[in-house]
Amino acid sequence: MSTSGLSTQEGGRTVWPVSRRAGRATSPMSLAMCALMLSACVTVGGAEGEDARAEQDQQRRGIHVLMGSKAAVPHVERLIDLSAALGLNWLILEVNNNFAYQSHPEVAEPDSMDAEDAHRLAKLAREKGIRLVPQYQCLGHQSWREDTGALLRAHPEFNEAPDLDPSARGFYCMSWCPNHPDLNPLIFDLFDELLEAFEADAFHVGMDEVFILGQCERCKGTPNAELLAKAVNDYHAHLVGRRGVEMLMWGDRLLDAEAMGYGRYDASRNDTWQAIDMIPKDIVMCDWHYGLKDDYPSVRYFQQKGFRVWPAGWNEEDAVRRFIEVSRKDASEKMVGYLATTWTSPEDIVTMLAAEQVKKRNRRAADIATCVSLAAEVMQEGDPESAAE
Ligand SMILES: [Zn+2]
Repeated sequence: MSTSGLSTQEGGRTVWPVSRRAGRATSPMSLAMCALMLSACVTVGGAEGEDARAEQDQQRRGIHVLMGSKAAVPHVERLIDLSAALGLNWLILEVNNNFAYQSHPEVAEPDSMDAEDAHRLAKLAREKGIRLVPQYQCLGHQSWREDTGALLRAHPEFNEAPDLDPSARGFYCMSWCPNHPDLNPLIFDLFDELLEAFEADAFHVGMDEVFILGQCERCKGTPNAELLAKAVNDYHAHLVGRRGVEMLMWGDRLLDAEAMGYGRYDASRNDTWQAIDMIPKDIVMCDWHYGLKDDYPSVRYFQQKGFRVWPAGWNEEDAVRRFIEVSRKDASEKMVGYLATTWTSPEDIVTMLAAEQVKKRNRRAADIATCVSLAAEVMQEGDPESAAE
């Protein structure tokens, strides 16, 4: 999901993921149209009671956003306001190490938000009828090449392949070792802190684009699918089993790239896909694909396998439109909506969504914001064709 090529600085740190895919030029919806859509939208506001909850569960109009430093908190607050105005009802906030953990302060990035900030965001989201779900990126994505995240900086012993040179050509991201005996107790403390601080009843564990597996002495010789399944099952046992919350994850490692006609990023070419029959069916699969395709067979596949599926797109208007259209075709009750990913800073998204002047330093944000608005509009109108007019 995360992407190379463009990183933004926020509070002095690099916000890694921007685009592995070179963002193809699209024709951005005009600022005026965005403003018009915002003004025309109905505020969801205070979704209370069982019916509202069930509706929110089944019709997820979501946005996924990366948390930056503490300085980003006001932008996330504004984003919640704007998202509610667009009719969105879920916010996946990818926090990772950008949180001042009390249990393990050493894994917090400098200048991180704290529990008080999280409670404030949780309260605001609740008031606006938005379900706020924290995300902690598990297994893969523990570095961006040699730019290592706080967890592996503080605990290099968790690195699955410390002997690999992260500056070498072709190196992507570090992984942690799913079999390290000290890992789960530590990350479960982090999960618990995030659940409590965000007052959340769901948790996203990431797990996309895991390329480094089975390298260390503990893992060597175990098939990749079994290694992946062990990690998924461990996190599920804690989140669903012990904490009683919903678990979400990116679905790409569970898709056979060859069979599905996808690439090595949004599907698996390292045999992890066989894990799909080794994990619980109550996990919500966030099925991300960003490019325009005739078909997205994974949406049907996940449902056939018994999972709820949440299709997730990004920054190409025609791809977003097509993905939603395909997802709705033959959808069962297990197809739960659409998740708009952003992969830029909350500030950029807010700026664009509020129809303020787009910062020239990141024109990509304009395309992304256009797709968020488009998805919100199409999801509520129910007819992708009419939305095109
Ligand atoms: Zn290992």
